[in-house]
Amino acid sequence: MIVIMRPDAGEEEVEQVVARLKKLGFGVHLSRGVERTVIGAIGGEREKLALASEGIETLPGVERVQPISKPYKLVSREFRRDPTLVRVGEVVIGGEEVVVMAGPCAVEGEEQLLRAAEAVARAGARILRGGAYKPRTSPHSFHGLEEEGLRLLARVRERVGLPLVTEVMTPEHVPLVAQYADMLQVGARNMQNFHLLRAVGRTGKPVLLKRGMAATIEEWLLAAEYILSEGNYQVVLCERGIRTFEKETRNTLDLNAVPVAKELTHLPIVVDPSHGTGKWNLVRPMSRAAVAAGADGLLIEVHPNPSEALSDGPQSLRPEEFSRLMGEVVRVARAVGRYCREPVGALSP
Ligand code: PEP
Ligand code: MN
Repeated sequence: MIVIMRPDAGEEEVEQVVARLKKLGFGVHLSRGVERTVIGAIGGEREKLALASEGIETLPGVERVQPISKPYKLVSREFRRDPTLVRVGEVVIGGEEVVVMAGPCAVEGEEQLLRAAEAVARAGARILRGGAYKPRTSPHSFHGLEEEGLRLLARVRERVGLPLVTEVMTPEHVPLVAQYADMLQVGARNMQNFHLLRAVGRTGKPVLLKRGMAATIEEWLLAAEYILSEGNYQVVLCERGIRTFEKETRNTLDLNAVPVAKELTHLPIVVDPSHGTGKWNLVRPMSRAAVAAGADGLLIEVHPNPSEALSDGPQSLRPEEFSRLMGEVVRVARAVGRYCREPVGALSP
């Protein structure tokens, strides 16, 4: 349930409610909005909740007590009306800016990474992506450079000045990856790895939570709820396509998820048209569509030479194509009342 405080309620009154809820055995989460504070009480049985709400409603400063109708609580719009802003270095996701994260699917070596990173930075990307630990369908495929890949990412981050997002696949790797990354990516295949979700939640680092390829939006939001339950509200959702009967594309990019998520949750949502389509020539149109639908950002795979990529070459953009995409995204963002950083270098269209 949530306890909605009156707009004029003071700190002491909030504390009194928090103390009472804790005494009753609830997990307590505070949401301080622009107008008022909302206190989330999580984890009681139904009878206890009913009893507690009666007593709490009479405490000073309390406007009303209300159950949360959805199975997820902390991620719901009911708990927090204002959009959550997620900070990755100096970049803010969830505000007016459309934030583009780009880079290779996998870190393959210093030169490849640097060339991709310089190109995406020049074209206006705000966050560098690159996998050091790669979840691959086949055990015979390239699985990433692991810690060496993390070291390369950290070195290139210094060179190009962009914060970095990279995937972590197991709870055991979380402390190591968190040492290097500015944002931790939980991949589609791990969306319901509940130990991993709790572990990234405990780091307090921003998390990019990809939608499982067969996950409903509700399951995805419940996965995010695990991270928030650890006290980490810095979560960005990423729609990356779901499995359907359609075979022309690798996945079906579910752009419905963007406005749906905006209604259901306060968390930002970004779109990954690279995995969502699996085809480089579809990435630009679907990027435009994602931004038009209200996405807070994009995750795009870029490789200096896609035909030689060790993973996801067919969906990776060459730098020139990425630069073109950025030019278009800037215009669409403007058309829907947002903005996106303009390309700054020689590659701009
Ligand atoms: C990736 O971002 O390279 C990746 C493996 O994505 P997903 O988990 O969405 O398949
Ligand atoms: Mn990939």
